Amino acid sequence: MKSICDYARAQGWKIVEDACHALGGTNHGAKVGACAYSDMACFSLHATKSFTASEGGMVSTNNPAYAEKMRVLRSHGMTPDPDTGPWAYRMDELGFNYRLTDVQAVLAISQLSRMEDVRQRRAEIASQYRAALNGFSPYVKVVPASGNGEPLLHLFQLAIDFEGLGKDRATVMKALLQRQVGTQVHYIPVSQQPYYEKLYGVQEMPGADSFYQNVLALPYYVGLTDADVRAVIQAVQDICG
Ligand SMILES: *Cc1c(COP(=O)(O)O)cnc(C)c1O
Repeated sequence: MKSICDYARAQGWKIVEDACHALGGTNHGAKVGACAYSDMACFSLHATKSFTASEGGMVSTNNPAYAEKMRVLRSHGMTPDPDTGPWAYRMDELGFNYRLTDVQAVLAISQLSRMEDVRQRRAEIASQYRAALNGFSPYVKVVPASGNGEPLLHLFQLAIDFEGLGKDRATVMKALLQRQVGTQVHYIPVSQQPYYEKLYGVQEMPGADSFYQNVLALPYYVGLTDADVRAVIQAVQDICG
């Protein structure tokens, strides 16, 4: 974020970060969401995230004018108009209904209070995976620990050279599932989606394409016990060793 920010500031650009995967982490000494390197940061509270309100999301900013503008846009563009009377409101611009329900907001707030526990447990699981899976096979790589801060990882992903391993990804996923280890692929590059192919034609995105070829996400959530983590590690070592 720091280098993106340095570049963007020099160009006079504003930065809206998609920080959905990063809530609870730190980057270059700043908390994610504190907007040290951006103007606004967006978070999803969808059910698959580390902190959830079942649906919805939030935006953080340090800029009071942006905060006020977002509040107005969130609620039909309406503001109170006490000069006209205690009943009055005015609508200066077109807004939306982007409100979270109160029930969801309560859920989100109570989840945020668990942030430190969630951060610690996710960091523990990640370091157990890293210690056991780093270098056990020439065909399997783990994401190295970041030098830029303390991330609260949303996913724990392996990069597997399936060709070198001599098994394709579907075979590996099915074999893991037989050991009761569910895995997933996050994500198919948007450039490969029919919508974008129709818009821009077939695009070569070497980085995204090779990432997609190799990626496999392991079970990674706070409810995993140490025994679960060991079972996942054993299954990966047996199948990808
Ligand atoms: C979940 C997610 C989104 C989408 O969030 P919605 O709540 O579905 O709008 C966008 N970006 C990232 C990185 C996400 O993880």
